[in-house]
Amino acid sequence: MTEPARSETTEPATLRLFFALWPDDATRDALNRTGKWLYQHWGGRRMRADTVHITLAFLGETPADRLDDLVACADGVESDAYDLVLDQAGYWRHNRIGWLGASETPPQHFELVRALNTGLQQAGFPVDARPHVPHVTLLRNARGGEVPACTPVVWPIREFVLVQSNLDPDGAHYEVVRRWALG
Ligand code: ATP
Ligand code: MG
Repeated sequence: MTEPARSETTEPATLRLFFALWPDDATRDALNRTGKWLYQHWGGRRMRADTVHITLAFLGETPADRLDDLVACADGVESDAYDLVLDQAGYWRHNRIGWLGASETPPQHFELVRALNTGLQQAGFPVDARPHVPHVTLLRNARGGEVPACTPVVWPIREFVLVQSNLDPDGAHYEVVRRWALG
């Protein structure tokens, strides 16, 4: 694994981490277009195109010395590639998030989430007990309202990634730390 050299003194004790699906360029462009479309209906703040993703497992603040264990968990995942069709806009009132989801989710997606979370749980990582809803957050602080029809985005899922989230004053900055190909 390639890591930037860091001195002992600047190495953070914990890293904010999550596993995610990260879009290829064409999918990112398509999601960005849907983000513009939803913004026209629901307002709020659009996510930057280079940050859109689907969270598979959120770990939160994780001791840096457990990174090897995390990598081992992901190495143990044997899931198949699939295409995810995102065709359904959604709005969550409680956090004012506007998102794009799937009216039909392929079983391979749930299998990937299950395999990953089971491995993480067995290795002692805290995992989210809530049922997984596949979604791409496109708007924050949105007002919601009538749900507009969306052009389906066909996302070829060929890999998953581990992401480090740096919460800066101007918002979260994400860095893909490592990638795993799907069979
Ligand atoms: P901010 O917290 O500044 O609004 P953010 O939510 O984009 O930014 P993070 O909080 O680091 O950044 O979250 C990274 C990803 O994990 C996001 O997709 C977020 O929705 C998701 N996430 C955050 N907390 C949880 C959680 N407790 N359970 C599941 N997913 C989560
Ligand atoms: Mg957050």
